[in-house]
Amino acid sequence: MLVVQKFGGTSVANIERIRAVAERVVKTAREGHKVVVVVSAMAGETDKLIDLAHQLSRNPSEREMDLLLSSGERVTSALTAIAIEELGHKAMAFTGRQMGIITDTVHTKARIEKITADRAKRVLDEGYIVVVAGFQGITEGKNDVTTLGRGGSDLSAVAIASALDADLCEIYTDVDGVYTTDPNIVPGARKLEKISYEEMLELASLGAKVLQTRSVEFAMKYEVPVVVRSSFNDNPGTLVTKEDEDMEKVVVSGVAYDKNQAKITVLGVPDRPGIAAKLFKDIASAGVVVDMIVQNVGSDGRATDISFTVPKTESRKASKLTEEIAKELGAKGVTLKEDIAKISIVGVGMRTHSGVAAQMFETLAAHGINIMMISTSEVKVSCIIDSKYTELAVRVLHDGFELAAAGRK
Ligand code: ADP
Ligand code: ASP
Ligand code: MG
Repeated sequence: MLVVQKFGGTSVANIERIRAVAERVVKTAREGHKVVVVVSAMAGETDKLIDLAHQLSRNPSEREMDLLLSSGERVTSALTAIAIEELGHKAMAFTGRQMGIITDTVHTKARIEKITADRAKRVLDEGYIVVVAGFQGITEGKNDVTTLGRGGSDLSAVAIASALDADLCEIYTDVDGVYTTDPNIVPGARKLEKISYEEMLELASLGAKVLQTRSVEFAMKYEVPVVVRSSFNDNPGTLVTKEDEDMEKVVVSGVAYDKNQAKITVLGVPDRPGIAAKLFKDIASAGVVVDMIVQNVGSDGRATDISFTVPKTESRKASKLTEEIAKELGAKGVTLKEDIAKISIVGVGMRTHSGVAAQMFETLAAHGINIMMISTSEVKVSCIIDSKYTELAVRVLHDGFELAAAGRK
């Protein structure tokens, strides 16, 4: 069997942890499997590097940021290979470039285009454990280093598993699987034995950082079997796979939260055709991704307020830009609110059930939590609330939908 084993930041946080990783992968190899290891940077390292750059510049070049950030994963890949060799097994560390991970040129959030991995395949056949620095690739032609977005080592692992036609991609982290909600917020959250790609994709994109969104997208597209497990114990973990008959048919399967959004409101916009088109076209051309949008019609029928959310990292840029557009449009003003959170309930069972959204609103209302914005799809309902109620909202929704109790197989 060929297995890809990915270890996140806390799993390689120090020398002790790296030794434990080496022991685990050598054990797998000695059971007769080919092993490719993908590592993240040590916990906190990427944030530290970002902070160093920001001490020098408010707006550092993204090309240089990528070169800088990729260094964290280089360190852990080399250290992990050294630790494996020390246990008496052959190992070879590879950077993204040496692994032949080719991406597009969108620095800091590049997409993987192909993986050649010729040398890695050869040395795997020669009995080496291959250790790959996660989160990085290079552009074709210019060979510039790129990174794959925060949490991107998950994507490295899934994409490598797909390129090498691996039998399994194991994601080792600091929790022993995917839970009905973040177990660090709700201790009574329940571990799922299996979850469909689709539900996992919703949870990830709504903020459950246990898997990076793009890695789930990739796994779903190429049907890579993924298991989320803990590097701290031998518990079985959660299998992320195609939806099947065996999966429990619950209406709501999980609760997610995202504190990384900000809300911008344009006040008193003239109520006439073309206004929203102009506003959102200009924001999109600045490369800002807008998530939720709400437009209220003013009572006099002549002016309206438009609110929308953007990633917090881009909120300053987006609100400045919105102020310029607002002036052009003759709006009354622009406000920015950063202390918000998006709380979501997810479940493929919602497709065939009514009243789920109403139950969510009632539960929040019963605890005095005001809803600022709402968005729904077939398989999720999301509400924007004040960020100080995040933990409370997650807890009461988890209880309200009885997620701790339902017997998922
Ligand atoms: P790593 O550094 O290993 O990539 P992350 O911090 O990115 O780990 O992801 C693991 C964290 O995801 C957990 O510590 C947990 O707090 C969080 N998390 C959020 N939602 C969930 C969920 N539904 N199930 C499990 N973990 C979750
Ligand atoms: N080190 C990177 C980050 O912190 C990538 C990863 O951990 O997956 O985002
Ligand atoms: Mg992660």
